[in-house]
Amino acid sequence: MSSLFLDQTYLFTPGPTPIPNQVNAAMARPMIGHRSPDFSVLIEDVATRLQPVFGTKHPVMILTSSGTSALEAAVVNTVHEGDHAIVIVAGSFGDRLATIAENYGATVHRLNIEWGKSCSPEQLEAFIDSLAGTPIKAVFGTFNETSTGVLNPIHALGKVVKEKTDALFLVDGVSCIGAVPVDMEKDNIDLLVTSSQKALMLPPGLAFVAFSDKGLKAIRECPERRFYLDLKRYVDTYEKQKSTPFTPAVSLIQGAQAVCDMIEEEGWVNVIKRHLLLRDMIRAGVRELGLPLLTSEADASPTVTAVKPEGISAPDIQKALKKDFSITIAGGQKDLKGKIFRIGHMGYCTPFDVLKVLSALELTLAKFGQTPRFGAAVKKAEEVWVQHV
Ligand SMILES: *Cc1c(COP(=O)(O)O)cnc(C)c1O
Repeated sequence: MSSLFLDQTYLFTPGPTPIPNQVNAAMARPMIGHRSPDFSVLIEDVATRLQPVFGTKHPVMILTSSGTSALEAAVVNTVHEGDHAIVIVAGSFGDRLATIAENYGATVHRLNIEWGKSCSPEQLEAFIDSLAGTPIKAVFGTFNETSTGVLNPIHALGKVVKEKTDALFLVDGVSCIGAVPVDMEKDNIDLLVTSSQKALMLPPGLAFVAFSDKGLKAIRECPERRFYLDLKRYVDTYEKQKSTPFTPAVSLIQGAQAVCDMIEEEGWVNVIKRHLLLRDMIRAGVRELGLPLLTSEADASPTVTAVKPEGISAPDIQKALKKDFSITIAGGQKDLKGKIFRIGHMGYCTPFDVLKVLSALELTLAKFGQTPRFGAAVKKAEEVWVQHV
């Protein structure tokens, strides 16, 4: 049953994600120098056309490095040794943010949330209250916790940060920016970061940093000048020369231009709606097969879905999908290792792609001895799809 054709492989991981042909073609364009007028036109085009996707009034800065570098940049440009920071930890990526801040000497107050659940505004409010009298420099949050498939209520959390503190609100948007609506001023987000290989339909290699007025002020006034991750350098070089301080991954930025074309062709509002549809289709299908979902409806992510099978091993399902159908999905991380599997459905993913995964799941469960439910998940998902059309 394994795939007959080597190029018929299906990538459903929550990063990296499949690359559209249009983007691959753009990345194959001739090389241009990063100090050339051609590059200035390119980067200004990309930095400004990405603004609606990040919900920012400012051009989006582009770093050549993975998403974690943008998390680190968010830390080093705002928090200094001895500063107090709150980090919302609802999964492994929140944990990573806290570790970065700790490594730079910040006093980190971890708001631990049960894995698989979102952080409610009430929980954040109570946590801030419990730290009354402590000067909080920054609150860090994960918009979409990729390890559990939870979308946090970022607008409500930003509101709490604003009402209760003078702190900066710094958000890891890595696995949802490009798929969900966001407005940095209204949501009170000061720095919002992502990387290329998630919902932005690009290969790994770029990190993006967007800021609010308050975030820009913090970057400009940061007393310690870092080097590669010094965001002021990126802002200054962009403003003065429409370039980047160091040699960027030019080809990926050419690809990013094609991504902007694609988002505009589909329409940003439709991109957002498509991701909600993908979420609803996956959940309906998985539920129909009797497989428990890790998250509640209210917390469910539009870009990644975690499934916690009972009486059948999650890693075995993952292996069978790979072996029999050339479908790659992800497993669990840290505490959830071996207990869940995760299906990424972001970026270059259509409702029809979801039907392929669900169909493969039906066949796999039958292979593992469950009463066959051929077509059941696909049918449910199609019913959801039809309602959206
Ligand atoms: C993928 C991911 C990252 C890490 O990005 P890298 O590009 O691997 O450094 C950070 N945060 C979240 C939420 C992610 O999903």
